Amino acid sequence: PSNQILFYPYLSNKPYIRKILSSWEEIGEVDEDYAPIHTYQVCRVMEQNQNNWLHTNWILTEGAQRVYIELKFTLRDCNSLPGGVGTCKETFNMYYYETDEDRAMKESRYIKVDTIAADESFTELDLGDRVMKLNTEVRDLGPLSRKGFYLAFQDLGACIALVSVRVFYKRCPFLVKSLAEFPDTIPGSEASQLVEVVGHCINNSMPLYEPPRMHCSADGEWLVPIGKCVCKPGFEEMSGYCQVCKVGFYRSQLESSACSKCPPHSVARQTGATSCSCEDEYHKIDSDPPNMACTRPPSAPRNAISNVNETSVFLEWSIPMETGGRKDVRYNILCSRVLPDGRGLEECGPNVRFLPRRVGLSNTSVMVADLQSHTNYSFLLEAVNGVSEMAKDYTKQYVTLNVTTNQAAPSPVSVVRKGYTGKSSIGLSWAEPDRPNGIILEYEIKYFEKEQDSSYTIIKSKETEMVVEGLKASSVYIFQVRARTSAGYGAFSRRFEFQTSPYCEYTGTIQSTMAARCGFVCLRPDPEEEKMHFHNGHIKFPGVRTYIDPLTYEDPNQAVHEFAQEIDVSFISIERIIGAGEFGEVCCGPLRLPGKREIQVAIKTLKAGYTEQQRRDFLWEASIMGQFNHPNIIRLEGVVTKSKPVMIITEYMENGSLDTFLKKNDGQFTVIQLVGMLRGIASGMRYLSDMGYVHRDLAARNILVNSNLVCKVSDFGLSRVLEDDAEAAYTTRGGKIPIRWTAPEAIAYRKFTSASDVWSYGIVMWEVMSYGERPYWEMSNQDVIKAVEENYRLPGPMDCPEALYHLMMDCWQRERTNRPKFDEIVCLLDKLIRNPSSLKKLVNSSHSARTKSVGEWLDSIKMGRYTELFVEGGYSSLEMVTQMTSEDLRRVGVNLAGHQKKIITSIQEMRVHMNNTNSPINI
Ligand code: AMP
Repeated sequence: PSNQILFYPYLSNKPYIRKILSSWEEIGEVDEDYAPIHTYQVCRVMEQNQNNWLHTNWILTEGAQRVYIELKFTLRDCNSLPGGVGTCKETFNMYYYETDEDRAMKESRYIKVDTIAADESFTELDLGDRVMKLNTEVRDLGPLSRKGFYLAFQDLGACIALVSVRVFYKRCPFLVKSLAEFPDTIPGSEASQLVEVVGHCINNSMPLYEPPRMHCSADGEWLVPIGKCVCKPGFEEMSGYCQVCKVGFYRSQLESSACSKCPPHSVARQTGATSCSCEDEYHKIDSDPPNMACTRPPSAPRNAISNVNETSVFLEWSIPMETGGRKDVRYNILCSRVLPDGRGLEECGPNVRFLPRRVGLSNTSVMVADLQSHTNYSFLLEAVNGVSEMAKDYTKQYVTLNVTTNQAAPSPVSVVRKGYTGKSSIGLSWAEPDRPNGIILEYEIKYFEKEQDSSYTIIKSKETEMVVEGLKASSVYIFQVRARTSAGYGAFSRRFEFQTSPYCEYTGTIQSTMAARCGFVCLRPDPEEEKMHFHNGHIKFPGVRTYIDPLTYEDPNQAVHEFAQEIDVSFISIERIIGAGEFGEVCCGPLRLPGKREIQVAIKTLKAGYTEQQRRDFLWEASIMGQFNHPNIIRLEGVVTKSKPVMIITEYMENGSLDTFLKKNDGQFTVIQLVGMLRGIASGMRYLSDMGYVHRDLAARNILVNSNLVCKVSDFGLSRVLEDDAEAAYTTRGGKIPIRWTAPEAIAYRKFTSASDVWSYGIVMWEVMSYGERPYWEMSNQDVIKAVEENYRLPGPMDCPEALYHLMMDCWQRERTNRPKFDEIVCLLDKLIRNPSSLKKLVNSSHSARTKSVGEWLDSIKMGRYTELFVEGGYSSLEMVTQMTSEDLRRVGVNLAGHQKKIITSIQEMRVHMNNTNSPINI
């Protein structure tokens, strides 16, 4: 067999060392088939002491470590011999000897391999039949380490015919398996040993994953193949070889076996192609499998139709005629709004929704929602596929759909926020719906007490804020807001739950005896306010924003644009001049923002020729105002900075500044109306102090009044306290301060705080209750400072409810920590408004007592008819009047009991007041 390599041992009966002739004889015979064979025979069974050696020549091992010897022989059965000789043997021995060179060696140095016995011996009879009983025995030698070896057969007196000696070793023959060549390999010396052989990939093949390996066993068999070779890309296996792919064919992957024909729209112009290239205008993307045809972008979608439902459009189409040979056709929508008057197209903003999405649509329809109502739109519908991006020169194919939306009600108001909350009122504010779908005409606010939804109230507002009054204290209310346009009402917002403040006991720290007497009983803060924490040194409510000083911005322009919206000047018309500001005229006119209701605004302008510093100072006010959002703070609509003149746009307050307004309407309002105004101002101030903003110039001239008598705090600015206010006077420490309105510590050492704003608020109260009287009249600033220093305070204005005067006096506490806080002021005013009888009791100021004549006093209590009688009776001064008794009254001629009672009550009040003049002292 191919795995057995035969040596050709040459046998010789010449002993190498001993010069005696061996008895082995070379005898020619014939085998069973009468073919001539050579044999070596010995048969000296009759003689004693036989030791006959037959040697082989030196056999080179050729690297084999284990050698096999196959002996074919016959051996005579001793019993068959006549006489049964005692010396007859039936075995012989086999020996070997290893050497590196062909040099004869003494037989005594040979190593015995085995004693060889016959399986079958032959008898005379057999010989007669000419049947040779041939024995075959195989023995092996090893491990061998020398270059060669000798074999020898020793006969000790047997009758042997050695017919053949085959000497061979085994090997794993050269093998080509799975395109890998494995060389001739000689096994290891041990029977169980495997020799690992790494194969070599034949031409144009390469290992697949790992080099091929085989294992050569001791028996010369290749076992356990691992790995294999495959043809390189561009070649295919054919009858055990790698053949190159023909033109028009390719083979890209090692895993595939045969060259394949190029897929449609691709070509292989050379043999041995590993891929095919696309024909012109056809493309392939990396993720396309090699056997996929080259493809093209699709043509335009077909049969596109639109279906309008109010402000939604449903678009539907069919797949393109030409998909380009791909399955990944997707659709993109480009939405544009058609601008009126042929001004072109404008891309739809991010507010328009596409369902399921705008680009990469796999279905042939889309819902476009939240469009504007009554608007023309143009939709470009484009089909793309995986190769659209690659097809640079390809002109995209669109279909265009023109659509006009219908009328639609506004979308719901999404969030309703709670503003300042009293015991009977809750301030609400909300943002315009995302999609007004027209001009919002008004809002409807529906509310009811929680769990009492069987009866609800609906109120309307044109603004996006409203104070809901007349609520129960400590009660939870549900609010919902909806907007109305000419298309009708939108849906109500979801329900928002807000709670009014509780009634509470006085636990505050106000020391004033006045306050105590006045009955400051509702000074406990809201439960919410109990969660107060300190922030920037100001007591802050959680969730209330903090005022940010525009100075913290390096670039003042950045501050402006952070807090103020830029308004295009084309939306503003200037109609009238309404006042003069420090920087230029103040005008008014309508503001028409697109999609919004037209509103009247005040426009402050910056006069031409300003310096950069002036521009900055002017806009400073907007940076501050823009941070506030409160019904009692003047609202900033925006700024115009991109064109000239630079403008600040605020809400328009029809009745102008409060001081002028009051002077114009002297004595025209009820006390409740006046207290309502004061309550609004206090509420705005509470908001400012919560924001951490100190106004520094709170005065009636800086409060604006709208047509509903709502008072709003205005005039915010950097330098205005110093420069802008005509009332501001230079103090000894430099800097201008409106002395009459300013707390002593702010005048003395510029300690401006919310507590100094409270002082100013007290002065505003006085201004309001005296219908715009100038505080301290014509006294000089120096005298005012001195008088206040000496504990003089303004007297109660005429007909001022005592409770209000007490509040003023509290605001003017020297020790600023003893002054009430703005939230306490709001709380008290609310209480007074709820309880109008508490305002009945009026102050009869000693100022009026001293300066008023008896006649004026009697007029004020509608008893003017008795003036002459009083004077005639000798009661010419009020001081004398305070001494009068009922008896005195009757004596001067007041006979009607009702009139007597009225006059006596007034006299008693006058007396009480005069007794109080030592603390604090009235001027
Ligand atoms: P100011 O520079 O803010 O003090 O404004 C000067 C004058 O313009 C004020 O005293 C008001 O009479 C008038 N004015 C300012 N803002 C408004 C407004 N928002 N609404 C009505 N009048 C205003």
